[in-house]
Amino acid sequence: MSKVYFKRVISNDSEALSLAAKVLFEKIIESTAHVFSKEVPIKVHFGEKGNTTFVPAVCYEGIIETLKKNKIKPSFIETNVLYRGSRTTRESHIALAKEHGFTALPIIIADGDHGEAYDEIEIHKSFFETCKIGREFSNYDQFVVTSHFKGHGMAGFGGAMKQLAMGFAARGGKLAQHSGISPVVKASRCIACGLCVQKCDVDAIELGEKAVIIPEKCVGCAGCIAVCPVGAIQNDWSGENFKEKVAEYAYGAQLGKDNIYITFLINVTEECDCMGQHMEPVAKDIGVFASKDPVAIDTACLDMLQREHGHPIFDAGRVTIKHAVEIGLGSDQVELEAI
Ligand code: SF4
Ligand code: SF4
Repeated sequence: MSKVYFKRVISNDSEALSLAAKVLFEKIIESTAHVFSKEVPIKVHFGEKGNTTFVPAVCYEGIIETLKKNKIKPSFIETNVLYRGSRTTRESHIALAKEHGFTALPIIIADGDHGEAYDEIEIHKSFFETCKIGREFSNYDQFVVTSHFKGHGMAGFGGAMKQLAMGFAARGGKLAQHSGISPVVKASRCIACGLCVQKCDVDAIELGEKAVIIPEKCVGCAGCIAVCPVGAIQNDWSGENFKEKVAEYAYGAQLGKDNIYITFLINVTEECDCMGQHMEPVAKDIGVFASKDPVAIDTACLDMLQREHGHPIFDAGRVTIKHAVEIGLGSDQVELEAI
C-alpha cells in the first residue's frame, strides 16, 4: 500500500496549480521525513513547439520556492527526443524551453548534444538486461519527477512511469522501448491525403493509392496516428510489449534514487505533449497528485479519471501498471488522501 496525496484544482489557473503542487510537495516532505540532497533537479517536459496543453512553467514556481527555502539547488532536467523536431538537439531544446517560459532555473539536457550520452543501468528484467539512461542523471541521487497525466498513441494514459521511462532514457533507450512496433494503415479508410507521410520523420510511409507503413523503418513514434484526419492508422498491439517495456525502463530510471513524484491531472489529451499542435482535452481538469511511488501515483490518477470521466481508452495504461508491480517498481494499492 502506498500513500498518494491529492489536491483538487479545476480552474486551469497556473498559479492555483503551482500552489497545489507546493502544498503537496511539502506534505510529502513532512510525512516521509524526506532528507534532501544538496542539488535536486526537477524533471519536466517543456512541451513541443506548437503544443498548447503541456504543464506551463508557472506551475513549477511553488516547488522551486520550497526547494530554495530548504537551501537546495534546483534545476530543470530533460532529455532530447527521438523524432525530428524542436527538441532533438540540446541547443534547440534549450531555446524552445526558454521560449515556453522555463527561465527560472538552469537547464540540464541529460543525454548530450544529440541524445548520444548515456549510462547503462543494469536491471535484468523480462525485456531488458540494461537501460540506456541519460548520463547526467547519474550525477544526482534525487529528482522531483513532475508529470502531465495524458494519453499516448502507443503507451496509453499515464504520467510518472512514462516520464521516468521515456523522459530519462537517452535516444538509444527511447528507440529500444519503441523497437518492434509500428502502426498499420486500414486501407479501406485511407483517403491518400499524404499528411502521415509529411509527419513521418524517418520516411517510413509510402504513398501510392493508399498509404503503407514500412515496419523496418518505423520507430513507433505514433506521430502518423495523431495527424490522420480519418482515423485510418491504428496500433498493431500484437506482441510488441511496448507498455511492459515502459515499466522496465521506468524501473531502471529510478533505481537507487530517492524521488518525489508530482503529477498534474489537467489538460488530459489523448496524445502527448510531443505533439506540436493544439489538442482538445478528453476530460475535465481534476487536480494535482504527489507520492514517492510512481506506480501508486499513476494508479491513483487512472482510478480518478475513470471514476469521474469514465472511458475505456483510459484503461490501456493498466498494462504498464500490472508489469510495474510484477517487477517491483511500486504498488497499485493506493491510500489516497485529499488535502
Ligand atoms: S509511427 Fe508513424 S510517424 Fe512514427 S515512425 Fe512509424 S510510420 Fe513514421
Ligand atoms: S494521413 Fe491517413 S488518410 Fe492521409 S494518407 Fe495517411 S493514412 Fe491515408
